[in-house]
Amino acid sequence: MPFSYQCSDCKCLIALGSYHSVTGQAVGLYCRHCGTYHRLEETIQQYFEAWSAEKNTAKKSYHLIGPKSDRLITLTPGEAAPLISCENCKAEGPFGPSGPITDEDPRGICPRCKQATMKRSGEWIT
Ligand SMILES: [Zn+2]
Ligand SMILES: [Zn+2]
Repeated sequence: MPFSYQCSDCKCLIALGSYHSVTGQAVGLYCRHCGTYHRLEETIQQYFEAWSAEKNTAKKSYHLIGPKSDRLITLTPGEAAPLISCENCKAEGPFGPSGPITDEDPRGICPRCKQATMKRSGEWIT
C-alpha cells in the first residue's frame, strides 16, 4: 500500500510503495536529487513470476513513467542494470533503488529542497 509524503516548505509530493494499476503492478518512485515523481510498472504476470525461483533467469521489462515519457527498461539476469536518468534534473545512474530514481524512504528529508520538512501526508487505499 503506497504512502505519500509532502514537503511542508516547497510542497514537493511523492508517493512510495507498490499498488495495482490499470495495466499491472506499479511502484511509486521519486528522484532523490530533485523530487520528481516517477512510476514503475510491470505486468501482473511478471510480478507473480518473480516469486518463483526457477524463473529468475528470465529477462524482465518495466515501464519507467516520468513526467514526460514512458521508457521501456529491460533487465537481463547476470548483466549490470541499465543506466537511467531523471527527466527533470538529468541525474544519471543505474536502474534500481541505489540509483537516482528510487523508492527509498526519504526519512523526513525533502529530495527537492533538502530540508527536514518531509512528512507523511497520507496512505492510499487501492
Ligand atoms: Zn521541499
Ligand atoms: Zn531529478
